[in-house]
Amino acid sequence: MTKAEKSGKNVLEDQNSAFLDNYFCQEEDYNFISFFDKLDHLIFITDINANIKKANRIVSERLGYSGSELLGKNLIHFYAHEDHNNPQKIITGEEEYGRIPLLCKTGKLFYAETRGFKQQWRNEEILVVICKDISDLMASEEKFSRAFHSKAIMMIITSRQEGRLTDVNEKFCDKMGFKREEVIGRTTIELGIFKSKYHREQVISRALSSEKADDVEIRFMNKNRLKIVALFFTDIIKINNEEYLLSIITEITKRRKMEEELRLKNRQLNVLNQMLEIYASTDGVTNIYNHRYIIEKLQFEVERIKRYPQPLSILLLDIDHFKKVNDNYGHPTGDQVLRGVADIIKANLREVDQVGRYGGEEYLAILPQTEKDCAFQVAERIRHHIEKENFTDNGIKITISIGVAQYKNEGLEIFVNRADERMYLAKTKGRNRVEV
Ligand code: GH3
Ligand code: MG
Ligand code: MG
Repeated sequence: MTKAEKSGKNVLEDQNSAFLDNYFCQEEDYNFISFFDKLDHLIFITDINANIKKANRIVSERLGYSGSELLGKNLIHFYAHEDHNNPQKIITGEEEYGRIPLLCKTGKLFYAETRGFKQQWRNEEILVVICKDISDLMASEEKFSRAFHSKAIMMIITSRQEGRLTDVNEKFCDKMGFKREEVIGRTTIELGIFKSKYHREQVISRALSSEKADDVEIRFMNKNRLKIVALFFTDIIKINNEEYLLSIITEITKRRKMEEELRLKNRQLNVLNQMLEIYASTDGVTNIYNHRYIIEKLQFEVERIKRYPQPLSILLLDIDHFKKVNDNYGHPTGDQVLRGVADIIKANLREVDQVGRYGGEEYLAILPQTEKDCAFQVAERIRHHIEKENFTDNGIKITISIGVAQYKNEGLEIFVNRADERMYLAKTKGRNRVEV
């Protein structure tokens, strides 16, 4: 077996010859080198002055130099000096390890964590330099750092147990009105973000629980006693094997204020709508439903009993010789009588019954779940009360004629007309009467 074959298929053919010098010529050396070539870390074996004697396959792959280009070059040649004071110290093992980017042949930087060891090899001192690829780690650290210094949200890192601040972003300092050095080392309770230890624990355990994490809201005051409303998200992170909390505080003060204003406006609007509805459905003189609205109500009742058949009766009430009241006492007194009659009708109906002003001195009352006989009794009671009543200070006496009808699968108009006919019958029969 040739030496090249022994050193393993992974070793690039042209590199092998370049790597073969008197350091690595015995069989165990080849096994050793073959093992190096299988590793993912970049491994350099150099003399005590850091001149390369051997580099594994990954070095060529990552840095883009062939074996012969590497051989004999000083390691320092691959380090981007401006990023580190003295890579030499790490290479030679004087410092334990360091993050120093390596320079690729193309000029690109390759982020690596380097460790160096001095070793004895066949009575000579050599250096073994191992570089671990940390470009992914650097990329995620870069991303994290960018996110952490976001201008949009407050971010803090605190100790898990006490909530002592170890890092904060600019946005947090801005919002809180503190300088960075004023907050580092203090606890979130001292800063007033949480009211007490108990409050902090409650918020954090809620924010850490997956189901409730979405809506953890906190309210606190900043240095200038400005109220801040914020959503609080947190997660446990590990730094050097210790637990910390990385918390994101998203301010929603303005949003909450707008919501509050909107709620208030909606409440006002609801009240206005209710007032408008009352205004649109009420008769101005008598304060009972107006014509349009009482007909709507009747329509609704008729539709309902078409689906769920039940008795439904109506009363049509017309004041007798009302014209005379106007003629004798004046229109305003007439209005007063109209109100008085409406009050008496209402007082003699049940909660579920409804009454409206049907016309000038005519009223329509709706009596759901009521047979005509029962409706007749109600009408009699009303008629009797009106007959007895002294309206106004002048002691005006009036009477009323009432027509009663019970619904029987007909159109609304026919139904009302039947009540109207009964009412006229009462008139012709001498007034102050109820006709069914
Ligand atoms: P009858 O017994 O036949 O019903 O006679 P009546 O006088 O009650 O009937 P008529 O239809 O002749 O007159 C109704 C009167 O009601 C005429 C009108 O001036 C009066 N009236 C209608 N609306 C109002 C109102 O809002 N206020 C006042 N004060 N009077 C009204
Ligand atoms: Mg009339
Ligand atoms: Mg009348």
